[in-house]
Amino acid sequence: MGIDHLPAEFIWYVKEWQAATGYESSAWRALAQTDVRRRIGRDNYVITDLEPPVVSFQPWFYGWDNDVVRHELAHLLLAWSRVEAHLIAALGSREAARPFIEALCNQALAFLQITQPMVDDAVKKHGVSAKAVRQIMRVSGARADRALHRLIQDDPDAQRAGFITSGNYIQHISNCNFPLPFWLFDRVPEPMLTFPAEANATAIRTPKRPQIIGVCWG
Ligand SMILES: [Zn+2]
Repeated sequence: MGIDHLPAEFIWYVKEWQAATGYESSAWRALAQTDVRRRIGRDNYVITDLEPPVVSFQPWFYGWDNDVVRHELAHLLLAWSRVEAHLIAALGSREAARPFIEALCNQALAFLQITQPMVDDAVKKHGVSAKAVRQIMRVSGARADRALHRLIQDDPDAQRAGFITSGNYIQHISNCNFPLPFWLFDRVPEPMLTFPAEANATAIRTPKRPQIIGVCWG
């Protein structure tokens, strides 16, 4: 069996877990709801095959909501989801699976910082659009690229894509079953002119920066 369905499976698992824990947007408080021992240590890591599991943080990451806490929480969820076991079985060893494990945990950061109600409220008000990205940024405190990624990847079965420019260049892209007419780092001075009407493209400029956030869907 292949592994290409596993990223979507992990997203669904994270969403179910968040629903079950009341959509807590602080990863530290979400972690406190689980049966996991938290401790201060020399490194940041989780040990999932102890009962209860142990999660260790360097002192400056311990006790508050930050990307290191989100990342270690994602490792726990990946282990609990069985997606990790499938990856290791499919790739032959934990060592071979490690780059995929790390990529999935980093992908989950956006989902752990930006909860489902934040996305649903933004889409209800603004549709799947660049304005929705701006609202998600405002309510979550997330950076533009993370808010964009969260909106585009929200439904693994939907057709969405988005981009962020820096000056005349494409700085970030996010795709979900929907192609963009350009690639990362392409020079595209007028990105909105490259979309047909059928792509439902919208864009906003971010204040005080030469940056455009664009969203389209099919
Ligand atoms: Zn990691």
